[in-house]
Amino acid sequence: MENALQLEVVTPDKQVASRMVEYVSAPGVEGEFGVLPNHVNLLSALAIGTLRFNEGGKSQNVFISGGFADVSDNKVTVLAESAELAEDIDQARAQAAKERAEKRLADRTEKVDILRAEAALHRAIIRLNIAAYR
Ligand code: ATP
Repeated sequence: MENALQLEVVTPDKQVASRMVEYVSAPGVEGEFGVLPNHVNLLSALAIGTLRFNEGGKSQNVFISGGFADVSDNKVTVLAESAELAEDIDQARAQAAKERAEKRLADRTEKVDILRAEAALHRAIIRLNIAAYR
């Protein structure tokens, strides 16, 4: 039996994490799921949310917006649309994105794509939450 997991988090433009961890939890579209070593193989679509991992007994948070997680042979591969380690989140940028989305949703002219504005607001809120607890 193995007691370690390899975690890879990649987006279309960067590799965000590649490390050995003890535990990963991810925001699956059907709910949060946790992965310990020797987990059964699994493929899940991901929602906008927080990926958490434990490394050397320390827990770390990563922002994730959509994508997929594949679990197989003690390796968790996350292919995300966008992802940032907590320490790399630009709070001012997320705050500006939040205000922009809120303004669009308040205006609600015909030109506003409501689902797009709601998704942008959701991303900004999760980023601000992760940055607040780092
Ligand atoms: P914005 O409107 O500020 O671009 P967004 O939610 O539309 O925010 P995304 O499409 O999720 O942005 O991401 C585009 C790229 O910018 C990705 O590489 C993502 O990691 C990065 N990014 C977006 N917002 C932040 C942030 N607040 N801090 C750090 N990186 C960010």
